[in-house]
Amino acid sequence: MGTKPFANAGRRHGAGAANAGWIVVSTFLALLALTAALVAAFRNSTDIADQFARVEEQKLVERFVERSERQIVDAAKLQLVWDDAVTRLNAPDAEKWSRNFIAGYFWGSHRINRIYHVRFGGGLVRCWQGPKVTQDCRYDKIERTVRDLIATSMRQSTPPGTVSEWRRHGEALWPYDAAGLPVSRGASQVISFDGRPTIIAVAPVLPDMTPSLLKGAPDYLVLVRNFDQHIIADLQSSLLLDDVRFALVPDRISGRNELALADMRGGAVGWLSWRSKPPGPAILRQTAPLLAIYILFFVGVVAGGAIIVRRMRRTTSELMASEAQAQHNALHDAMSGLPNRAHFMQRLRQELANCVVRRELGDVFVAYVDIDRFKVVNDTLGHHVGDELVRQVALRLRRSLPPGDFLSRFGGDEFVLLRRGTGGRTSADMLGNQIMAIAREPFVISGHSLEVSVSCGISWGPEQSEDPGELLRRADIALYRAKQRGRARYRRFTRDMDASVKLRREMEMELRRAIARDELTLAYQPIVNAADGAIEGFEALLRWPHPERGSIRPGLFVPVAEQAGLMMPLGAWVLRRVFTECQDWPNCDISVNLSPLQIMASNFLQTIDDLLRETGADPRRYVLEVTEGVMLDRSEHVVEVLKGLKYRGFRIALDDFGIGYSSLSYLRSFQFDRIKIDRSFVQNIEADLDAHAILRAIVSLGHTLRMKVVAEGVETPMQRALVQAAGCQMIQGHLFWQAMPAEEARALVFPPLHEVTRAATA
Ligand code: C2E
Ligand code: CA
Ligand code: CA
Repeated sequence: MGTKPFANAGRRHGAGAANAGWIVVSTFLALLALTAALVAAFRNSTDIADQFARVEEQKLVERFVERSERQIVDAAKLQLVWDDAVTRLNAPDAEKWSRNFIAGYFWGSHRINRIYHVRFGGGLVRCWQGPKVTQDCRYDKIERTVRDLIATSMRQSTPPGTVSEWRRHGEALWPYDAAGLPVSRGASQVISFDGRPTIIAVAPVLPDMTPSLLKGAPDYLVLVRNFDQHIIADLQSSLLLDDVRFALVPDRISGRNELALADMRGGAVGWLSWRSKPPGPAILRQTAPLLAIYILFFVGVVAGGAIIVRRMRRTTSELMASEAQAQHNALHDAMSGLPNRAHFMQRLRQELANCVVRRELGDVFVAYVDIDRFKVVNDTLGHHVGDELVRQVALRLRRSLPPGDFLSRFGGDEFVLLRRGTGGRTSADMLGNQIMAIAREPFVISGHSLEVSVSCGISWGPEQSEDPGELLRRADIALYRAKQRGRARYRRFTRDMDASVKLRREMEMELRRAIARDELTLAYQPIVNAADGAIEGFEALLRWPHPERGSIRPGLFVPVAEQAGLMMPLGAWVLRRVFTECQDWPNCDISVNLSPLQIMASNFLQTIDDLLRETGADPRRYVLEVTEGVMLDRSEHVVEVLKGLKYRGFRIALDDFGIGYSSLSYLRSFQFDRIKIDRSFVQNIEADLDAHAILRAIVSLGHTLRMKVVAEGVETPMQRALVQAAGCQMIQGHLFWQAMPAEEARALVFPPLHEVTRAATA
């Protein structure tokens, strides 16, 4: 019954939050992975950029060194292709001549540190240090290199088209150009000399005008240039490098880049190192703000997600707790804790079905019990005494009956009991006597000793009926008969009792007549603002002042009207009366109860439109209250009608929320403007901490769904404080006002005449 939607709703909500949790967690993980990937990719790309820049720097330095070598070779080739050089270098005054034209020139123009004059075979003729001839030649240190370089120069290719013939000069086969002049060829390399890198270049001494001067193989000059401060300064300024240094071993210091200088045989001569300028940090500096924004955003997303998940978890667990409780509520009576009508019917249906199928299982007895003159107790001693009496009766019944009996409370002072047994009539009598026994002793309630009796009607199936509803009705009829016979007794149902159905018919007829004669009236109960008690509106409640039986409460005759098909005319009567009676009440809205039957009728919207046209009422002033029973149906028609009402400007309230079938899923199928927390619920919250927690959850849910929450049946200041603390915005209850005739209600909203004048003259 009511349990299903709850359980499902609970699971749905739980699953919903869990899903949302998963979504946030996976989004978080995805973002985290994305961020990690981005950072890694970024790091990687700056690393690659740095690496690339290092290699580029190395290439530039390498090219610089090559260019320096080439410059020396070119300078040598240029200076040494000269007739004078061929003749004078080997003349007796060679030392003197070469001071100006060879050593002086190379030292002054090209900063060549040492020069060697050697034969083609490598033999040393003379050497200079700077511009001067020296004896400290240290030729042995470079002799091998010189021989190799001369050999290399001989292998060097010449630009195509420059060579027109080859002539032999001793050991050397020498190229000649078209003009008949020998072509110069040189070679160079970097070596380690005196502990520092040194460029060493060789070039032949050749005639430039008189080829015949070259007799044998040409002599060579060897130019030696240290990597001195000048080269380093040149390197720094032309390549814009910082802190260039030379070392014999690699630096391997972070932040520095270096180039290994290798000699002809690939051996390391030393390392040039400089402070490298990787682009990574610059990129980082430029992109850092973006990255920071992204990380902030990411942190924001994660934090936001976490907060949302926490909130959802909390709300979900509150909702689940409240749904679990609501599920319990759905099957139990709040005041006595006994199973309720729905629960009872479920059980009865089950037990009866078993017994119908297998007759040998015996009988199912149904005993309908109610407290005699309960209304008098309530009216004279107050609701609290009435409630306590109900609780004590429940307690005694439970204690005096065997544990197998299923005792339930249908509301008010009505208890219904189910017992499995055999023996039909005899057992029914036994049951009746047991029940009567509980009222033998008086009840003591807040100082009052109450002599109260109970009445009881008993039926049993499958003998008397195989239908649970019918069986219950028969027990009810038997109860009615027990009352008629003077109360304080039980009656078994007998066939002739069925005639009392007549009674119901009588009431029906009287109601018809009362409607026709316009004998019914409406009472108005104020609904106040929870904060300051100011009247915000009224709920219109049907009253039937019966000429003989006194005022009959709607709880009694509305069901009769519904069964008799009178609800449509009765409902229309209520609406017409409300629309006309309260039309000019200022600054308040009027709530009207709708029976499920009205909403389910196919022509309801038509009826409403007719009434609006007829009375000229403004729908925006009215709140239509529907019960969960309507939503239970879940038909599209109901939702259509509710939407139609909303479309016309009416507000819709969900009445009696928190008992019975309350399911949160209803709240999602239609956007209600209000929910009204049922008074049985409110009356529980003083004693029941759970009820208070549930109330808070319902109210916060209401706010989330943009609904106002009204607490009904507030009777004590404590209840008011609690519902207010829970967040209810509006309160309806005897603590403030009882329902009152229209004129009294009207007087509450219209200030007395003298006040009006006072206000007007002020
Ligand atoms: P309801 O819609 O829940 O109406 C509120 C009921 O609670 C009213 O009972 C009201 O008098 C009562 N009440 C209000 N405050 C307190 C309080 O502090 N303590 C206690 N113990 N009771 C309080 P009433 O007038 O007997 O109405 C009973 C039910 O009859 C209503 O319950 C509603 O479902 C139905 N009803 C009343 N008028 C109409 C009507 O015009 N049309 C339809 N379809 N149903 C109506
Ligand atoms: Ca109501
Ligand atoms: Ca209600």
